[in-house]
Amino acid sequence: MAIQKIVTYGHPALRRPAQKVEEINEEILQIVQDLKDTLTHIGGLGLAAPQIGIEKQIFIADLSILNDKQYVANKIVFINPELIFSSKKKEWDNEGCLSLIEVRGEVERSFKIKMKGLIPSNTTRTIEASGLFGRVLQHEYDHLLGKLLIDYFSKEDYDKNEIFIKKYFAENKKNLPEVME
Ligand SMILES: [Zn+2]
Repeated sequence: MAIQKIVTYGHPALRRPAQKVEEINEEILQIVQDLKDTLTHIGGLGLAAPQIGIEKQIFIADLSILNDKQYVANKIVFINPELIFSSKKKEWDNEGCLSLIEVRGEVERSFKIKMKGLIPSNTTRTIEASGLFGRVLQHEYDHLLGKLLIDYFSKEDYDKNEIFIKKYFAENKKNLPEVME
């Protein structure tokens, strides 16, 4: 069991597209386990590998922690996921991110999506998701593309959160040779 440190806004891993996983080996399974341990420890709904500084196309989503019957089955580990359908119908809702913990704002997402990818047993799975589960999958998938929730914010929401966004950026700038907005 290994709880990893979550990297915050400004860390370059959050802005670069993640690399495709070539082979599901021990190293990849360890990353999956670390993501699970870290997410359980923090209590979020999803976590992507770039958020622990690993630029690989892996994320997990788990809504079962909400203790709500309708979300019990909503969990997945996805490796090399592809978004193969996203509905034209969209919905705005409030979102947060473990890499920008105090930041909250309205993000527009497709109401329904289909995502296809590998699961750790090396089989391909396609899932259809809507509502909150679909939203979490789209949020985590974005992490693999180097996109963040603040990219969707209205100017008003951005301004409201700017003090925290700038705080993370400044912290990373002190410690890292390269930071990325
Ligand atoms: Zn996030």
